[in-house]
Amino acid sequence: MHAPIAQTNPGAWCQAHRDEIEDAVRRVIDSGWYILGREVTAFEAEFAAFAGEAGTGGLHAVGVANGTDALVLALEAVGIGPGAAVVTVSHTAVATVAAIEMAGATPILVDVDEAHGLDPAALEAALAAPPPGTPPIRAIVPVHLYGQPVDLDAVMAIADRHGLTVVEDMAQAHGALWRSRPVGSFGAAASYSFYPTKNLGALGDGGALVARDAAIAERARSLRQYGWRERYISDMVGRNSRLDELQAAILRVGLRHLPGWNERRRAIAATYDRGLAGLPVTLPVRRPGATHVFHQYVVELDDRDAVADRLRGHGIGTGVHYPVPVHLQPAYRNRIPLGASGLARTERLAGRVLSLPMHPFLKDDEVERVIQAMVTALNS
Ligand SMILES: *Cc1c(COP(=O)(O)O)cnc(C)c1O
Repeated sequence: MHAPIAQTNPGAWCQAHRDEIEDAVRRVIDSGWYILGREVTAFEAEFAAFAGEAGTGGLHAVGVANGTDALVLALEAVGIGPGAAVVTVSHTAVATVAAIEMAGATPILVDVDEAHGLDPAALEAALAAPPPGTPPIRAIVPVHLYGQPVDLDAVMAIADRHGLTVVEDMAQAHGALWRSRPVGSFGAAASYSFYPTKNLGALGDGGALVARDAAIAERARSLRQYGWRERYISDMVGRNSRLDELQAAILRVGLRHLPGWNERRRAIAATYDRGLAGLPVTLPVRRPGATHVFHQYVVELDDRDAVADRLRGHGIGTGVHYPVPVHLQPAYRNRIPLGASGLARTERLAGRVLSLPMHPFLKDDEVERVIQAMVTALNS
């Protein structure tokens, strides 16, 4: 009997790079400084360089407590709050929509396209006929779900035409590119999560937001710490959402390896594509112009739950991202305004999507075993 294959494995990189992580932790212990010190400052500089485009003046990064807060603070820092509506998708982590409400804005949810990202036509429909009683639409939060950029040509053109602010949810897309340019550098700001299973994960919670405009980054920096302009003087109503020194030191280690991990994710995806071709399963649609970083490798199946059961029988773990769209969740149902063209694809996807094992430490023979188990599961 083979060892089980987990859908994700956040502990794998810690084992592979244990010495580097232990050095980083020791450095923080010995520093005697645990909140907003050298490690956070260094991580912010290194992450800004990673997230931005070389040679264009770059981005500013602000470390915060988690990815949800990163989106809240990004929205607040660009001036989105009460009295504004924000268009995003329902086929996403509930955190995306929670963050918009935490900022005080009204989410409007629209459908996705065949590549599982914000559908530009659904966005246009929402703008042409906004849900009655909602405040004016001021912003768009495109979610680069599963690691694949949304159609940024279309989304940015619509945003320009309507004078809307774009804040990108990058929680699943660290390192993704659109026409060779880093995703997350297109909008006024972008939010990242370092939840342990993300493409770059901490050993606990962490997040960051990036912005090209230094003033937006400065506002976020102040908002993450009680709205302080300087120590004990609050210019704004802020909160406490700081990235720990310890997590920043660990994230600096991970960041050095992230480009290689993303390459490995892409190679695994290419092997899945080849091995699963011709089976009765819809493989991930690759958007032309996008460099996908495969946070998840998501297939669509008519009998998703039965296939997941059969894979479990072979010791193979899978995931469902996500089983219930946000607009159908108990806390959101019948409450969140929806785009004029409906959410038919979103509702259909919830019953069909299956995330296969995907992390950079999967071995070639494990990827082969997943493929063989899929062949068996789909032929029985
Ligand atoms: C993980 C995730 C978040 C939230 O990040 P946390 O660090 O868990 O708060 C937001 N949006 C998307 C798309 C995510 O996948």
